[in-house]
Amino acid sequence: MKTYWIETWGCQMNVLDSQYLAGQLEAWGLAPVEDPVRADVVLLNTCAVREKAVQKVLSRLGELRQQKKLTGKPEVVGLCGCVAEQEGAKALARSQVLDFVLGPGRVGQLPAVLAAVTQGQRVSLTGFSATRDLDTHLITRTSSARQYVTVIHGCDQHCTFCVVPYTRGPEMSRPLKEVVAEVQQLVARGALEVTLLGQTINAYRCPETGADFADLLQAVTEVEGLWRLQFITSHPKFFSKKLIRALASLPRLGTYLHVPFQAGSNRILRAMRRRYTKEEYLALVEEIRGLRPQVAFSTDVIVGFPGETEEDFAETMDVVERVQFSQLYGFIFSPRPKTPAAGYPDQVPRVVAGQRLERLFAAQAGISLSLNQAMIGQTVKVLVDGEAKRGAGLWQGRGEDNRVVNFPFWEGIAPGQLVDVRITGATAHSLLGERWQPSQPPGALPRVA
Ligand code: SF4
Repeated sequence: MKTYWIETWGCQMNVLDSQYLAGQLEAWGLAPVEDPVRADVVLLNTCAVREKAVQKVLSRLGELRQQKKLTGKPEVVGLCGCVAEQEGAKALARSQVLDFVLGPGRVGQLPAVLAAVTQGQRVSLTGFSATRDLDTHLITRTSSARQYVTVIHGCDQHCTFCVVPYTRGPEMSRPLKEVVAEVQQLVARGALEVTLLGQTINAYRCPETGADFADLLQAVTEVEGLWRLQFITSHPKFFSKKLIRALASLPRLGTYLHVPFQAGSNRILRAMRRRYTKEEYLALVEEIRGLRPQVAFSTDVIVGFPGETEEDFAETMDVVERVQFSQLYGFIFSPRPKTPAAGYPDQVPRVVAGQRLERLFAAQAGISLSLNQAMIGQTVKVLVDGEAKRGAGLWQGRGEDNRVVNFPFWEGIAPGQLVDVRITGATAHSLLGERWQPSQPPGALPRVA
C-alpha cells in the first residue's frame, strides 16, 4: 500500500486542515507512515505568519529533492497551507520536486489535484470560491477526547501587519446547524472537549439564520455529553453584551479566553488598524472578569511595530501588568508580503525589538509564575493528553483554563480520561500535581455542574 506523510507548521487551523488532507489521502487509498523517508506522498502544510516562511519551505523542498534522487521517494510532493496560497505557481517554478500547490481555500479539492498529478500534470490550485464545502466525515481525527471544529474560515479585518486575509481569504461562517451536527458526531465518538476555531471567531454570523456567536455557543454547549467547550481566537471588537453574558452563564464553557491585544499604545493600535483602544480593551477585561472572575486571559503581542517608541512599548507593558494574563504569545513585528505595514517607514531595528521582547517575556514569566503558584493546594479537573514531553515518568493534561498540568503516572490512567489532580507545585509554564481521586470510572461521562 502506498503511504503518506504530512508536515504541519503553524496554527490549529493548519492542524485541522492536515487532518482533512489526511482523510482525503486515506480515502484515496494511502496509509499514514511514521517515517517521512518511507512516504510515497509528502505534503508540507505551511504557515506564512512569520518571516522566512518561504526560505524554510524551499529548504525543506531541497531536502526532499535530495532524498528523491537517492531513494526515489517521495513520488509526489505537495505544498499546502498559507505559503502555498502566497506563492502559487511561482513555487512550482522554483522547485522541480514539487508536483502541486494547494491553497487553504482549496483544501477539499485534493483528490482532483492528485488525479491530475497521476496523469503527469503539475498543478497549482489557489484562491477562494464562494463556498467552502467541507466533507467533515473525511477529517482524520487523531485523538478522540479533544477535537477542533472550524466555525469561520478566513478574515475580513485586514489588520495592517497580518497576512491571514490574503492567505485564508474572506471571512465565511459555517451554518450553525452544520457546526452543531459536527460537534454531536465528535461527542458520539468520544470527544469530551471541543475547541471552535476561527481567526475572529466572535464575529460569527450564521449564513442561514443570522444567529450570532453567543447563539452558537449556547447551541453547542447544549450538545449532550460534551464536557467542555473552548474557542479561539476572539477579536476585542466583537464582544457584544449578549456574548459577555453568555460567557458568564454557559456552564460548559471553559475559562480560557484568548483575546489578542497586540499593542498597548493607541497610536500603534491605530497604525495596526485594530479598531479599539487600550482603554476599551482594559474595560472589556474588567467587564468579563466582573461576571466570571475565574476567566484566564491569554493574548498575542507584537513588539517593534513600525514607529514603536519606548513610550509606546511602556503602554504595552502597562496592559500586561494590569491584566495579568495567564499566557502570552509575543512576537517581533515581521513584515509580510502584501501587508501595508511592511512598507511603513520607521521600521524598528531588530536588536531593539529583540530587547523589548525579552523584557516582555521576563515580565510575563513573573506573572505566570505567581498566577500558577496561587493554584497550589487547589484540585483541578484535567483532561489527560498522555506522557509529558519532558520529565521522566510524568504525564500531562490540561485544565479547563488550558494550563498544562504535569503529574506522576498511575496505574490505569489513559489519554482522554478526566482526572482530579491536586496542585503541588508550579513553574512559569506549567503546574505540577498529584492524583487526588478518580473523578469517575474510566469511560463514564462526568456530570457537568
Ligand atoms: S483579525 Fe487577526 S487574522 Fe484578521 S487580519 Fe487581524 S490579526 Fe489577522
